[in-house]
Amino acid sequence: MRGPISVDDYRREVLAGVESLSPRYLSLEDAYNCVLAEDLTAARDLPPFASSAMDGFALRSADIAAASPEHPVKLQISGEVRMGRPCECEVTEGRALSVPTGGTMPSGADAVLPGELCRAEGRELTVTCGCRPGHNVRPAGEDLRVGEILVPAGRRLEAADLGALAAGGYGRVPAVPRPRVAIVSTGDELVDPGTEPGAGQIFESNSFLLKGLVQGSGCEPATRSRVPDDPPALLETLAAAAAAADAIVCSGGVSAGRDDPVKRAFARDSSVAFFRVAVQPGRPQAFGHFFGKPFFGLPGNPMAALVAFELFVRPALNKLAGADPRVLYVRATLEEQVGAAADCVRYVPVRLTGREPACVACPAGHRRSNQLVALARADGLLEVPLGPDLKAGDPCRVIRITPEWGAG
Ligand code: AMP
Ligand code: MG
Repeated sequence: MRGPISVDDYRREVLAGVESLSPRYLSLEDAYNCVLAEDLTAARDLPPFASSAMDGFALRSADIAAASPEHPVKLQISGEVRMGRPCECEVTEGRALSVPTGGTMPSGADAVLPGELCRAEGRELTVTCGCRPGHNVRPAGEDLRVGEILVPAGRRLEAADLGALAAGGYGRVPAVPRPRVAIVSTGDELVDPGTEPGAGQIFESNSFLLKGLVQGSGCEPATRSRVPDDPPALLETLAAAAAAADAIVCSGGVSAGRDDPVKRAFARDSSVAFFRVAVQPGRPQAFGHFFGKPFFGLPGNPMAALVAFELFVRPALNKLAGADPRVLYVRATLEEQVGAAADCVRYVPVRLTGREPACVACPAGHRRSNQLVALARADGLLEVPLGPDLKAGDPCRVIRITPEWGAG
């Protein structure tokens, strides 16, 4: 057992043991939230050809320069532009072509007059106002020129990036695949929710908490298993987990208790080390490798497992995914006093109101690290550093645990 070790030092230790997964070509369909490995440039202008921005008539602005309600100009409609087809007609003097939004600009035309600003009768178009050259025309390359960077390397692909890459014609992109994460829960006392617990048994909840956190961090949940406090059974489950995943997150069984199975399973295996981290909750932790895959042993108390996930696992999963491993904090003002611990950093569930920089953090009435309901009502984890108690009105920092759009 190593420690006590500070939160920052333990995070450094964990991050030093994790490498980014190798990038490969992913279908655009699978690339959401993945980190792009190379700058991707536009292979052609975007948009690729000049097109109309309105449903209307493509014409020569010079032809209608003098048009007014008193002196309408009449043009001949010589055809129509069809969507998705090249435009073979040319607009010559005194003529117009009907054109839909997104239709190719015919050669000869330099503007589009919206249908509602003119009157079409048969093949005759009556125009009562002029327009500037380029009016309602979307020029080729207006969004991006061929050769310019469409999405830069290192970008974690969001919905709009995927849209831009598709618009640029990319069906596959070089990116770091989403890490697959196996989740294992240990404990003789655990039964699956949806079944009937016996005396002394509780419902297994960490795997659901951790699976949600894994999904929220942009990773792919792989296997989810529950094992009793039996080291051989645990090692068998972990071997299957290592085969199915890029990382293993295991909860429970890392303290020094007689039956703690993770501790016993790795008693003679130096590839997983045990730590006492100066944090509350979440003091006992294990980290190492199993069959070459990063292994995180989190304490079993749900709140401790959540704190450990946010402080150590999420940063490591981000590093595996090729992304920035830093912990993100919300800056807030504290609503009421919170006591500091003598020898470790504390994390306390809080509700957040308002938006940065005027965020206010209010403790969520959570007393012990096995209490999940108060945690579920919280928006974040307040960091209470070593030192004097935090007072009402003090600036503080909070790790958000609910997405901003999901708060409520
Ligand atoms: P441990 O870290 O195994 O000593 O467990 C600490 C506490 O967390 C005990 O009260 C366990 O019953 C509880 N616990 C451990 N694993 C889970 C789990 N997967 N779901 C709910 N509670 C758990
Ligand atoms: Mg246990």
